[in-house]
Amino acid sequence: MTAKDGPLEWLALARGTLDRAALNRRDDRWLARASADPRTRVLIVQDGRALVTYEPAPALVFVPPGRAPDGDRWLLGVDGDGTAYFGVAAPLPAVEGAEPAGLRRVGALLGDRDSGLLTHVVALEHWHAGHRFCPRCGTPTEVASAGHVRVCPADGSQHFPRVDPAVIMLVTDASDRILLARGPQWPADRRSILAGFVEPGESLEQAVAREVDEEVGLPVRDVRYVGSQPWPLPRSLMLGFTAKADGDVPLRPDPEEILDAAWYGREELRAAIDAGDLVAPGPLSIAAQLIKRWYGGSLPDMPHF
Ligand SMILES: [Zn+2]
Repeated sequence: MTAKDGPLEWLALARGTLDRAALNRRDDRWLARASADPRTRVLIVQDGRALVTYEPAPALVFVPPGRAPDGDRWLLGVDGDGTAYFGVAAPLPAVEGAEPAGLRRVGALLGDRDSGLLTHVVALEHWHAGHRFCPRCGTPTEVASAGHVRVCPADGSQHFPRVDPAVIMLVTDASDRILLARGPQWPADRRSILAGFVEPGESLEQAVAREVDEEVGLPVRDVRYVGSQPWPLPRSLMLGFTAKADGDVPLRPDPEEILDAAWYGREELRAAIDAGDLVAPGPLSIAAQLIKRWYGGSLPDMPHF
């Protein structure tokens, strides 16, 4: 297996380094001790954003437990020194030299630990905000397991954070050109590879083949998994694939999902970017990493989306 068809090496939101310490989530004594330890770091999140400083390098801003706002504490993990990290949803305080930023802006810029922490805390914030009631009986649920379970006090049912699997795939043809398409709400110059949600009762490979068929009417073969990353915007898990067009079938874009789809060779892609006619995905996404690897290096400079 060569680097060109093996697993993707770098994915912006799949870089977390902490031990998630899942066993400690139900250990009330450990949690109480960690919550009182002044070395513990608390990450405040509000509407998908946390405080970030940019000097000397992009980094999250934490507060010690004594200065953290009230609210449920979500255990995010423990680092190699035994320092515990918690998240809490609350208004972001004013901190000199820091400003609020979300995953789209800093997910690819933060270091490995902080990128993982921000991804985790944003995912939990979205889940808690959207799952406050029991899906069985409608009773307001209560937070348990240091933020990783919600329990219904009426019927005792437990509810875990939800993740929606979605596939994203780089499709190549017999000439090693790639398929790029424009979604219905996108600006005129924006192009990316195809993607879609996995449906109930469907495998990932089946989802890849179905989405490509639905969106552009193209049969594919050799569907191969290349990597995954969380995409908590609000709750996806993106699963990256490559696939090959099966035969020389004309593209038939579904106008409901695709405004424009076309094959691009490397020279065509470079020319379109250089001419300002095409904007490709930024480094945060699996799409960007798949395109970059196929291209054989960094794409020409351009504004990203
Ligand atoms: Zn219930």
